Amino acid sequence: MGQHSIDFVKGWVRTSLIDYPGKIATVLYTEGCNLRCPICHNPELITYPERYESIDLSEIFTYLKDRAGMVDGIVVSGGEPLLRPETLDLLEQFRSLKIAIKLDTNGCFPDRLAEILSHNLVDMVAMDVKGSKRLYPLVSGMKDFAVSKIDQSLTLLKQSSVDYEIRTTVIPQVIDIQAVTDIVEWIGPVQHYVLQQFRPVMTLDARYRYLEPLPDVQLNEMAEIARKVISDVSVRGLAF
Ligand code: SF4
Repeated sequence: MGQHSIDFVKGWVRTSLIDYPGKIATVLYTEGCNLRCPICHNPELITYPERYESIDLSEIFTYLKDRAGMVDGIVVSGGEPLLRPETLDLLEQFRSLKIAIKLDTNGCFPDRLAEILSHNLVDMVAMDVKGSKRLYPLVSGMKDFAVSKIDQSLTLLKQSSVDYEIRTTVIPQVIDIQAVTDIVEWIGPVQHYVLQQFRPVMTLDARYRYLEPLPDVQLNEMAEIARKVISDVSVRGLAF
């Protein structure tokens, strides 16, 4: 597949210090998603992707080649990158650049994830576990959500040798201490678990824009609970 036949990269942040731990990364956003999370911060990218122009991949390649040694990571994010099988081709093309690749995914496409891992197409995966099993219909916006896909993706990551993190956004009035207890009991020991502070900015469901994030101290309490099951837990996006 040629470089120009991939037309679903719709967003590009050229340099980021926060999207790939320890790296200066360029971040790509693919269009579309199978979920409708009420707190989605890229609602237009999933509901009206046609409003965005596709990014020319050759521009990205030129940018990265020109900055070899300075930009040392690529993050493929979304939307949901694994919605499209062509994402595997995209990752394969990036492999030729010899820089680290991170994939952000919602965990709903274990078959594609398995293929990516078996072909060693990424160096790191960040996967969402958005809530406890009971909360998934609410946090994913899909009333018949099947958590079996999340289970399968988790198993794949645990069995692979890739670096990975599992992350949960702490949605006020939804993710509480009980939810975190249930999540860590469900996922068990994982390589790295991240609790992310909620940001009341653009959200798919407008009602969520007005929620006050929980106080930092409560996120730290949740992290302590998670540490009873997972040794490496961090909290991201706190105010200080
Ligand atoms: S937040 Fe939810 S709806 Fe938005 S891109 Fe991620 S998985 Fe899809």
